[in-house]
Amino acid sequence: MSFYLSSLNGLEKEIIRELEKLYIYDCHEHLPPEKGRLKQKPDAFTLFSHYCQHELYTGGMDKEIMAKILWQPGDIDWKWKTFEPFYKQMKHTSYCRAAHITMEKYYGEKELTAKNVHAVSERIQKANTQGLYDCVLREDCKIIASINCDGPLDDTHSGLIRQTVRAIDYIYSYKDVLKKFGDGETSIDSVDDILKACEGYIVNAKEKGAVGVKYMSFYIDGATREDAQNTLKRLKNDPSLVLPRRNPLNEFVLTSRLRMTHDKGLVNCMHTGYRNDYRELSPANLLPFIMKNQDVKIDIYHAGYPYVREAIMLGKVWPNIRMNMCRTYLISQRFAFDALDEMLEMLPDNKIIGFGGDYYVVEKVFGHLVMARETIARVLAKKIQDGYLSLDRALEIGRKMLYDNPKEFYGFKDVGFNV
Ligand SMILES: [Zn+2]
Repeated sequence: MSFYLSSLNGLEKEIIRELEKLYIYDCHEHLPPEKGRLKQKPDAFTLFSHYCQHELYTGGMDKEIMAKILWQPGDIDWKWKTFEPFYKQMKHTSYCRAAHITMEKYYGEKELTAKNVHAVSERIQKANTQGLYDCVLREDCKIIASINCDGPLDDTHSGLIRQTVRAIDYIYSYKDVLKKFGDGETSIDSVDDILKACEGYIVNAKEKGAVGVKYMSFYIDGATREDAQNTLKRLKNDPSLVLPRRNPLNEFVLTSRLRMTHDKGLVNCMHTGYRNDYRELSPANLLPFIMKNQDVKIDIYHAGYPYVREAIMLGKVWPNIRMNMCRTYLISQRFAFDALDEMLEMLPDNKIIGFGGDYYVVEKVFGHLVMARETIARVLAKKIQDGYLSLDRALEIGRKMLYDNPKEFYGFKDVGFNV
């Protein structure tokens, strides 16, 4: 239990021990192929890349310097001297907690210091060998499969990685249309040609074993095929024209793809909330589509943060929606606790998908999973202490969130786990 908060009570610890016995599905990652990771030269600062970088630059670090520290090999002493003042001011955040748990587990230190920064860097380099993914994901995290974003379709790591593909989005200009749906030159005159290209892309992904198509939430203003066709014509007639993301062609293609993805047997994986301009990513923006398409499966990522209640309402009202807690414990364990506490009072227990690491750096999945188990256990323990749930029922809900629900929603066919 050394990675967990010292304030946990006996019941919370008991639930964590039960959750640790489960094999689980990891329902969102950004992992590069292991081969790619092994080619990198990671050091101690790699552990503070990805989400911790939000704390570095919002805390005042220059972006170019940050990139040199996090993403390029370089002089460790220079890196540390430059990093330390910013590290001092962000050490307490949830993003850093995951990095610290990871560092303790794999590289033997609870925090980075001038004294250990070289030793941690050497240990990371030494461990950067074949088998790293199996060790972290399967052995330490008991992950049956990780649903991954942005990886090559043929990188399945013997079934441990299940890829998703990105929906083609951000159709701003005619140049975009040619590049994204054709060969870059041959003229495209009809929305039907665009949809045919989308279909080919989805069918190919499905044939190669993908389990979903990943989207960013978007505004829906009711664009029809005719609106989309007229927009395509406008773009073609004026190649210098650049429209905002919220345009009838982009919207019609995206909504058509949501339906198509479902009809081809894949899940729509929907990023909602948290991003630079999060307003257009509110889960509530999807309502017009969901109301008319109550069979189309949509997995709502990140509980919509900061639009948490908008997200929960989608889960509450519509049968085809799942609430995916990926990245939530990293954003803030407080928020994740409150969101889950409220979801348990509002949703049937098949609606919540309990974990997705959402990381590039594979070891950090472990840090996030500790925080996820801890938060889930604390919510379940509170419900038991309030007299709301029995221990058995709480453990059943925990298991459904981490195992049965993703298995059912994504149609996984594992055998031999959790029997
Ligand atoms: Zn992500």
